Amino acid sequence: MRYAETGFNLEIDLTRGSIERVESDPRLTELHLGGLGTNAKILWDRVPADVEPFSPDNLLIFATGLLCGTPAPGANRTIISTYSPQTLFMGYSMMGGFLAPELKYAGYDKVIFRGKSPNLVYLWINNDKVEIRDASHLRGKGAVETAELIRQELKEPKAQVAAIGLAGENRVYMASIEQGRSSASRLGLGAVMGDKGLKAIAVRGTKDVNVAKPAEFMQLCNEVLQYIKVRAPNLIPEVMPILAGLGSPQEMAHVDEKWHTENFMWGNARTRRKEFWTKEIEEKWKDALETVRTRLISCYNCPMKCGAIISAPGVSTYMMKCFTKLTYTMAAFVDDLDFGFKIAQRATEYGVDGFSMPQAMAFGFELKEAGILTEADFAGCPSDNEGKFYWLLDRIVRREGIGDVLANGTYWAAKQIGKGAEAYAHNVIKKHEQLPLKLGMLNPIYFLMYSTGEKMNITQIEGNFPQAPFSTMELREAFVKDWVQAPNDKFKKYVLDWEFRGERSMPFYPPVEACCEIVDWQEKMHHIDDALGLCAGLSSFPLKPPYHIHNLPTLISAATGIDMDEDGLTQIFNRNRTLVRAINVRRGLRRADEKPPEDHWKKRFPELEAQLLDGYYKFKGWNHEGIPTKESLHELGLDYVAEDFLQRGILTDNEGTPSKETSAETKKK
Ligand code: SF4
Repeated sequence: MRYAETGFNLEIDLTRGSIERVESDPRLTELHLGGLGTNAKILWDRVPADVEPFSPDNLLIFATGLLCGTPAPGANRTIISTYSPQTLFMGYSMMGGFLAPELKYAGYDKVIFRGKSPNLVYLWINNDKVEIRDASHLRGKGAVETAELIRQELKEPKAQVAAIGLAGENRVYMASIEQGRSSASRLGLGAVMGDKGLKAIAVRGTKDVNVAKPAEFMQLCNEVLQYIKVRAPNLIPEVMPILAGLGSPQEMAHVDEKWHTENFMWGNARTRRKEFWTKEIEEKWKDALETVRTRLISCYNCPMKCGAIISAPGVSTYMMKCFTKLTYTMAAFVDDLDFGFKIAQRATEYGVDGFSMPQAMAFGFELKEAGILTEADFAGCPSDNEGKFYWLLDRIVRREGIGDVLANGTYWAAKQIGKGAEAYAHNVIKKHEQLPLKLGMLNPIYFLMYSTGEKMNITQIEGNFPQAPFSTMELREAFVKDWVQAPNDKFKKYVLDWEFRGERSMPFYPPVEACCEIVDWQEKMHHIDDALGLCAGLSSFPLKPPYHIHNLPTLISAATGIDMDEDGLTQIFNRNRTLVRAINVRRGLRRADEKPPEDHWKKRFPELEAQLLDGYYKFKGWNHEGIPTKESLHELGLDYVAEDFLQRGILTDNEGTPSKETSAETKKK
């Protein structure tokens, strides 16, 4: 019997219209767990290294995490993986909500799509009955609207539906996949779904998921719930409100937006409004939030209530997703939060990433102000800040006029526009828009996370280590006193010694080796979550979460029956993380790509930054170019990767790298 997982994947060939139920190899679960880990293995094995994201040979994988569908609190993530049209590297994005547990209850761990359907279709999974159904009547429908129409059509109000909107259908690089109160937004996965002619997946499952040691497993789950109960209301002093408790950023519960509105840039990562958060604005925004927020809600099997149902006047009800509450308002320089709530509803129906889309729009208007784009490009555009944002959003998702260019995101749009536009597309890493945050002093931990993270998305890499030193020794001592999540006492010392000023302050403290250990730990927690399907909000993202490296091995053992300890789990993390890196290395990722946005910090330290990269690569067992070495691949059981690298000349027998590599971008040209 298979425990925690079902042991079956669905293989859907959209070109041929075929559906197969295929048993998976249990050995792969031992090597990679599930979710992201096994997705990476499938992409490595089955997709040609030089595949175009919009090729029928590209796969689109909807995966449950290994613990999804078990009673583990917060085990509800769907991990979607493919090759991103924006970065051209592996793209993976997670969504919470309800889809993954439902898929497990229907009897499947993954749904793997290949090919392209000639007509728009959706997949209906109803336990053992699986059908590809016509979706031509859903063309152009909103993502939320589509979910509702499909439930009505199937007469199955309990079906969980993940759908794309118009942006995905039109292969907008910022297109998301929307579901429940969540979405897989980053890296254009919705565009790949649209390219495959797949409008939605609807799932209803009523089967059981088995766990290996039920009594022990339930005991561990109860301990997690107990811990949440105590920890969640006990906020950590001196930490900004949305990070002081548990859960994904609790922005829908909090009114205080001083930190975001005054530290994040407005427009396209350009202007800080340092005195923005006045008493008057606070009252106005509180009122706006509390008027439209009808209810706080959770994902499947979680007590945290990170999301909210929004009913803004004049638009249909929707659910607010991570941080979108502020992004449109700030990009458009609108002082009225109502605007943000209204445009976010339209954007959610269109199915777009709430981080990248507002930046792409603001970027377009900045180019117009700079004379790089012309009046003709914006013919018919209203002049007021709100009106012009609605106008451009509509054009981008329809790929009309200048909207067609901006639909590829700021990096590719700047390249196409030329005439100096590149200087305005300055907030990207590996061609992907980042948080519009501009700071003073280089933070060496964040430098490494930004530069080397394979997720291309800082908010999903940062985590359990404090973002800044605590101001007093009392606070530091109080923090480390019950810090059971720290991997070992060295990490406590880093917190105790970390100062705002002087020798033990940023950028030279924590020292290079400590930064590597901290980043490695944070990555480890994220990779484990993404393999298990655990929400980062209860594990890798907040300070002092209920899940950590010391209790997860026991939980995995009780769920799966696999013998697991911390070393074993660390080995799996290293294998999964290295495999994702290898996939990207095979597509041209090199050291030159590993840099944060140029103006993210005012004070930069090139020599230290080089040392940080050198130190991190060495720590990981990679060579000077960031390529895993033969030895390190061998230690992780990835000899097949080493052989591939040798054959392609990416590694040579003496492990040097050839001087010239063809990058994915070069191939695209
Ligand atoms: S912590 Fe928040 S985002 Fe995570 S599963 Fe719970 S409700 Fe969802």
